[in-house]
Amino acid sequence: MEEKMTQKRSLILQYFTPDLLTKLWLITKTSGASNNERGQMIKDTLRENNVPFSPLGSGTNRLGILIDGYAFKIALDDDGMIDNRREFLYTTKIQPYVIKVYEISPMGLVAVTEYLTIFTYDDYREHADEMRDILKEVSRSFLIGDVGITGKNYVNWGFRDDGTIAMLDFAYIYSVKYKLFTCSCSDDAILDYDEDFVKLICPLCGRRYTFGSIRKKVTKKQQEEEIGSIDDQGYILRKPLESVPEIIQYEPKYAVVKKKKKELSETKRLIKEHRKAMKAQKEEDDYGYSSFDAAIEAIQKSYK
Ligand SMILES: [Zn+2]
Repeated sequence: MEEKMTQKRSLILQYFTPDLLTKLWLITKTSGASNNERGQMIKDTLRENNVPFSPLGSGTNRLGILIDGYAFKIALDDDGMIDNRREFLYTTKIQPYVIKVYEISPMGLVAVTEYLTIFTYDDYREHADEMRDILKEVSRSFLIGDVGITGKNYVNWGFRDDGTIAMLDFAYIYSVKYKLFTCSCSDDAILDYDEDFVKLICPLCGRRYTFGSIRKKVTKKQQEEEIGSIDDQGYILRKPLESVPEIIQYEPKYAVVKKKKKELSETKRLIKEHRKAMKAQKEEDDYGYSSFDAAIEAIQKSYK
């Protein structure tokens, strides 16, 4: 049977060169810098590289920027990369209740999503019932933190142009099959939401848990096992506009992006500088790469 070709566009390849991505990745590894400082370094670096963005705001682990009508989420640290990969993995399974994640760069450094108008406090008051219905539906398959009905979480919700609402940040998402969500009182006590989907409650002893405390129990290794590789979850593009054989399970879904090879002298210089700066500090990166060198090698390889 003849292969059907389909044309795909990569916004990451259009705006981020491999060298720029490497610079951003190195910023996420800057020791001694707060995530606020890293966010500032990233914005400075984007401006130096003439990326036409406007800032959207910063979360705990990621910086949001707007380019060409799309939101880009740039990781500020390892957790931010995990967050991007989590959202990329689960976005299609929870449509239309969460933002669409269209594209992600290797390791989850940059993700491209649809751009929604963020809720005001009044929007939140007006749409609380709708939010509750959505969370009820989603909670059959997933536990999601930081999106419950409170005056603190409403900025994690927004509008599409057609008036539908969706969650903007849903990285604190776990499959309910995930076995860590039991109470310390009994292995059989599986935690459930409270009525506003803010805390988790033990049905046996009534103890309440925050998502933050639950999330801390998940090790990096368990994260990796759950998320797996992003390489088989979408098209792999090497050009901003590319014709690829259609893969039906990726339609009309979202593309994984890989970068093409380019002159790396500048990159090599940066890597050398960074190694020197941290020669005393032996880094152990648990995100599928055994060391700093292995992670760098993986970035470079992905630009083939
Ligand atoms: Zn209990």
